[in-house]
Amino acid sequence: MKRTAHLKSLAALLLSASLLSGVAHAQLAPASAPTAAPAGATAEARKANIVIIGTGGTIAGAGASATNTAAYQSAVVPVDKIIASVPEISKVANVKGEQIFQIGSESFNNERLLKLGKRVSELLKQPDVDGIVITHGTDTIEETSYFLNLTLKSDKPVVVVGSMRPGTALGADGALNLYDAVLVASNPASRGKGTLVVLNDEIHTGRDVTKTNTFKTETFRSPFGPLGYVVEGRTLFYRIPARPHTMQTQWDIDKIDKLPEVAVVYAYGNVNPASIDAAVKNGAKAIVYAATGNGSVGDYMVEPLKAARAKGVQIVRASRTGSGVVVRNAEQPDDKYDWIVTDDQLPQKARILMALALTQTNDPKALQQIFWKY
Ligand code: GLU
Repeated sequence: MKRTAHLKSLAALLLSASLLSGVAHAQLAPASAPTAAPAGATAEARKANIVIIGTGGTIAGAGASATNTAAYQSAVVPVDKIIASVPEISKVANVKGEQIFQIGSESFNNERLLKLGKRVSELLKQPDVDGIVITHGTDTIEETSYFLNLTLKSDKPVVVVGSMRPGTALGADGALNLYDAVLVASNPASRGKGTLVVLNDEIHTGRDVTKTNTFKTETFRSPFGPLGYVVEGRTLFYRIPARPHTMQTQWDIDKIDKLPEVAVVYAYGNVNPASIDAAVKNGAKAIVYAATGNGSVGDYMVEPLKAARAKGVQIVRASRTGSGVVVRNAEQPDDKYDWIVTDDQLPQKARILMALALTQTNDPKALQQIFWKY
């Protein structure tokens, strides 16, 4: 009896603690609750102020006919027009559009990434901005969101959203994805969870999410599953990111003006060793080798990689498999060669992390710790 009473009070304590921390709050808070209510107003009385930054992609795309679901022109519709096409958004938040680029996301490079990050950071500092939504092509959402996740210094929600079909297509997914992204960005439960990616009714962390299919709307996956769902206007979180992000990291977007060159070399049968030399000649400070399996390196590729390392270039063993951990000193003697392994970061995410890491250190031991930490 005594034990049951004890368990009951423990459960009550845990419930109130989780409510206070906001973990379970997502299911209770109204979708439009702002991050901070003005004095005298209840949280429900004020709609959140959300800035929607347009960068292009299919969510800004248009096709020649409604049956063009996969063949169309991306990055043509201005962000204000996209917002105006989803009038339901104005019921949940006060939104303001801002066009920073009008590009396919395959055209993102370091300069554009930095420009976007710095603008987001500037907006997040404004007291009248509660959250940011970024409309983005789906091809490289996983890189941009990981970069922002590691470099933004704010707890306010930042949500990256895209679509797989243009607004002109039958079964277009952009309108609902954008509506859901605004809901998530407006919800206090989304604070402190790092940069989020919302598509196809799901909320993912920018750290893990990756595009896995060229045309299906169900293309975004995280190896450990999404953090939550958006259903019928409700933001539902079930998990929180375990790895450090935003406020907890060692990078600040405001202090980064240039990213070092990091190359990804993709392994395949008969891979040409000259691709390593080419990366070195092009000024790569590190090479992420997207190796087969658990970071396996072909016998004829070991010497070229060792030669690059001897020239001061960092070598990161990654895997082209799409998920899983690359184990240090397993397929290759990393200690002996002074190489680094990626933990579970995909090659394109390892490129982002390595570029950021190299802004602070060139010590391979410190770099390895960074890969294991983030
Ligand atoms: N390749 C374009 C991009 O990433 C269109 C793909 C999309 O947005 O779904 O921006």
